[in-house]
Amino acid sequence: MTAGIRGMAALLVFGCGLAEAAPDWSAAASDIEARVIAHRRHLHQYPELSNREFETAKYLAQHLRALGLAVETGIAHTGVVAVLEGDKPGKTVALRADMDGLPVTEQTGLPFASTVKTTYDGREVGVMHACGHDGHMAILLGVAELLAARRAELPGTVKFIFQPAEESPPVGEDGGAKLMVEQGVLSTAPKPDAIFGLHLLSMYESGQVGWRSGGIMASADDLRIVVHGKQTHGAAPWLGIDPVVVAAQIVLGLQTIASRQMASTEAPVIVTIGKVDGGVRDNIIPDRVEMKGTLRALNEPMRRDLHARVKRTAEKIAESAGARAEVFIAERHAYPVTYNDPALMRRMLPSLQDEFGERLIEAQPILGAEDFSFFQREIPGLYLFVGIRPSDVPAEDFPANHSPKFTMDEAALAVGVRTLSRLAWDYLAAP
Ligand SMILES: [Zn+2]
Ligand SMILES: [Zn+2]
Repeated sequence: MTAGIRGMAALLVFGCGLAEAAPDWSAAASDIEARVIAHRRHLHQYPELSNREFETAKYLAQHLRALGLAVETGIAHTGVVAVLEGDKPGKTVALRADMDGLPVTEQTGLPFASTVKTTYDGREVGVMHACGHDGHMAILLGVAELLAARRAELPGTVKFIFQPAEESPPVGEDGGAKLMVEQGVLSTAPKPDAIFGLHLLSMYESGQVGWRSGGIMASADDLRIVVHGKQTHGAAPWLGIDPVVVAAQIVLGLQTIASRQMASTEAPVIVTIGKVDGGVRDNIIPDRVEMKGTLRALNEPMRRDLHARVKRTAEKIAESAGARAEVFIAERHAYPVTYNDPALMRRMLPSLQDEFGERLIEAQPILGAEDFSFFQREIPGLYLFVGIRPSDVPAEDFPANHSPKFTMDEAALAVGVRTLSRLAWDYLAAP
């Protein structure tokens, strides 16, 4: 497979003559690497929570304006959008980085570690870029610098999207990619034809880039089931309807959906019940049990199918016992599948293969969710993984994203710059 793809890359390179004119992104990224690292360290030291990225937005806007880009702020609360128009006509491509940190108290001991504190859910907590979004922003600033310097040859327009609240907005607020889409970031001029984004990930080695066609990250929908029974004494269950037993049957019944009902060779689905709540005393059968969980899928048809089966299974099991189940799906969270458009992936894969060779790997899907999916629901898009783990550190010893010890090999930032620069340039340069 690798040889085949490399062959395709060679054909593209020599067949259309793009490569001769295209910049050497490896050299270009090296030239600005120190500045990209400095951006990352500054942003790392001053993280802000979702929908509170005020200083972050100012920092980004100031640097983007200095590059000569047209900058708009205050989109989806604190988002920043910058437009670079090339001197040659062409399509428009969007590139996205997320901006928010997490309520995590940093324990890295780095000289630029965050000491920021804030109140979250009524408690004092530290704030940390524990998911690498500092790196994402630094990468995109680097890409903006490289492409702005090549404006005279740039065949089209690049829309840089700095998005707040990827980790989800605070309870009771809207925000993130969904709100950016609602506010027209993809539908107002210049209207992007495609979008690219990436995530720095601890599970891959620094230098590696992971791609996948189709679902690369899962949909995530919250699930709440309320089982209504009839209260009675624990020693006389026949005088009531026991919702605890019904809830137990539902938990087990739901697990048979993935194992018995869905096409497991096509893609996995997950049903997790993470919370069961009912009753107050050992010998009283309560009248109600509430359960909460999460549903994951890797393509939209299976997602819809899963929802219908969960609802049917819970309702019919309850009915069989004379109880009643109410099923609520996606009351708070409804993230679509992060779905890499197969045609766009096929088109861009030779560029990535040419750029990274053996360091480009086909990634396993992750069943976590990512709100980049809201952009991909509107226009074709690709989401890639960029490794950050030093090659001499085993995966099990390296802190994962969201850990208070999360850190990165900063050499990965240049890899990220190459990834997005190359994708944007080749997308626009292709006939
Ligand atoms: Zn995260
Ligand atoms: Zn993240």
